Amino acid sequence: MKRRKFIKTAGLASAGGAIAVSNMAAPAIAKDRIEIAMVATWPRDFPGLGTGAQRMAQRIKDMSDGRIQIQYFAAGERVGAFDSFDEVASGNAQAYHAADYYWKGKHPGWAYFTSVPFGLTYTEMNAWIRFGGGQQLWDELAGGFGIKAVMAGSTGVQMGGWFNKEINTADDLKGLKMRIPGLGGDVMAKLGASPVSLPGGQIYENLVSGAIDATEWVGPWNDSFMKFYEAAKYYYFPGMHEPGSMLSFGMNASFWSKLSKNDQILIESAASMENDVMMSEYNAKNGAALASLIKDQGVELREFSDEIYDSFGVAANEVFDEVRGHSALANKIHESFLKSRSEVGGWANIADVAYLRQRNRVLGL
Ligand code: CA
Repeated sequence: MKRRKFIKTAGLASAGGAIAVSNMAAPAIAKDRIEIAMVATWPRDFPGLGTGAQRMAQRIKDMSDGRIQIQYFAAGERVGAFDSFDEVASGNAQAYHAADYYWKGKHPGWAYFTSVPFGLTYTEMNAWIRFGGGQQLWDELAGGFGIKAVMAGSTGVQMGGWFNKEINTADDLKGLKMRIPGLGGDVMAKLGASPVSLPGGQIYENLVSGAIDATEWVGPWNDSFMKFYEAAKYYYFPGMHEPGSMLSFGMNASFWSKLSKNDQILIESAASMENDVMMSEYNAKNGAALASLIKDQGVELREFSDEIYDSFGVAANEVFDEVRGHSALANKIHESFLKSRSEVGGWANIADVAYLRQRNRVLGL
């Protein structure tokens, strides 16, 4: 009945003349036109992180048929990478694409909404954010800073990093100056390293000049573009610090609250799609990139030993104790994270992990 009525009404409007329709439509489009200045923590066109953020901006334009316009600024084009947060919280820009753990100095709770040591993989993270209370806690934390953030990408499990010497025991980490942000950096500090947080665009020059001895970034596909192998040959896995780094589309909360429900869903959908597409791209490209790094660049692949992992575990627990002591909200986020890690991770252990172990054993992968 409703559809029939709509067709009839539309027919009448059309019969009323083109001028009347256009006069009615034009102000509505102008009224709903939305402009977003979007800043990012990634270099322009940087594969995966930058191209994913840019692809998401284009998707919002396309999904809204151009009604929502996004002017995209890569790191340094409008503000420095790490000034993105303040630019959006203050309302100077409407949105950022970033890794929220860059803001851990403002509140350690932010780290959980990218990745934490011994944290969640991509699938586990999605389960926590969507069904384990993660988004509600993210809203509570972000709301306190005038931000509304949604999932907008993932790198998956990251590599442990690039070192200019072998790391055979935890003692080998002592005195090492390493680029490693988030709580992973705090874990390294507990083991005697000196962590620094540098935006992606500044890592290479610091590694080559010797200002830092080691760095983590993402994984083979991304790291190969950075040419870290020119200064550090040993490439360690797996990274305990970022097992499923989620990227975020953070919006000014006041801007977000004024959007129509329709536009909120449109933006959430575009971001959620990027969360999926970016992960697919990393999974599709990391394997071949790693093979090339080893074959063409002479990179030495190494696995962190159980002993080093045990040391990471002890240090991570010390870091988590400090986070929990920070505030009631930090403790609440940590408790919720622990519950999901136990429930979702426990299931993954007898599903994904057990299956992959058997499949790869039988096939010799
Ligand atoms: Ca990283």
